[in-house]
Amino acid sequence: MTPETPEHEALCSRCGTSCHYGVPVNGLSVIVDDLHCTFLVRTDDGRFACSVYEDRFRQAPWCATAEEALEQGLLSQTCGYVAAARAKGPLAYRGKTRLHPRLEAKVLPAIRAEILARGAPAGVSLEGLRRFLARTGGGEFTVEEREGRFWLSPA
Ligand code: SF4
Repeated sequence: MTPETPEHEALCSRCGTSCHYGVPVNGLSVIVDDLHCTFLVRTDDGRFACSVYEDRFRQAPWCATAEEALEQGLLSQTCGYVAAARAKGPLAYRGKTRLHPRLEAKVLPAIRAEILARGAPAGVSLEGLRRFLARTGGGEFTVEEREGRFWLSPA
């Protein structure tokens, strides 16, 4: 199966995991609402889609192919591309995780602290980043893009 064939594309369930920023928390790569690629949109069926899909590698140089995402641990544990790779042979894979809401609520302060200390990838939605900061403690921040990341400073 080659990339970009309908069969290959059909392995994607449009869960949006690979297009969310994985924040390191206690050895896990955790995704949360609001911290995602600036081109990710939610569709009426509740799933996700890329608003620049046909042109994504030009407009979003941070975007990864399914194969790169697999190698870099950017997919979910239940992703169809992970399952297809496992069907070919043993695969130790630890991808991104979405925590149960109760556990997520406990680690949101740590995620906020991580973002404030180490910034976020420059491809992240600034609107979403600001929404995340507003719902996890508020405050006013200025954003500076440097070395491929957004860095936040209190305004
Ligand atoms: S550009 Fe890439 S990372 Fe961004 S939404 Fe599209 S597919 Fe996802």
